[in-house]
Amino acid sequence: MGGLPCFCPTCGNFMIRPDKHRCSPRWEIKYPDWLGDETKFVHAHDAGEAGERFARVTDSYGDYEFANGHEAEVQIRRAATDTEEPGPWETYILSAEPSVEYHARQK
Ligand SMILES: [Zn+2]
Repeated sequence: MGGLPCFCPTCGNFMIRPDKHRCSPRWEIKYPDWLGDETKFVHAHDAGEAGERFARVTDSYGDYEFANGHEAEVQIRRAATDTEEPGPWETYILSAEPSVEYHARQK
């Protein structure tokens, strides 16, 4: 059997069939303003999703700068693997916008 559905401890995605799960690719992110020379790694389907995940996580560690309208320029590339060289760095702008939630409650 393939084990019970759960979140992957490596990439964080939900696994309906853990035995069939393959982690999404790993992306490397440079954000000199905040990380200096350090880089961070994020699992995501593409570079844009990696940037979104990175923004979501870093925003909650900071003062929600993105949620408050701050934008940041970062560099993202496909991380090297055992068999592949890293991809070329590409520039992405991270930002966020608040979403509106509508409610109706009976009085
Ligand atoms: Zn995974």
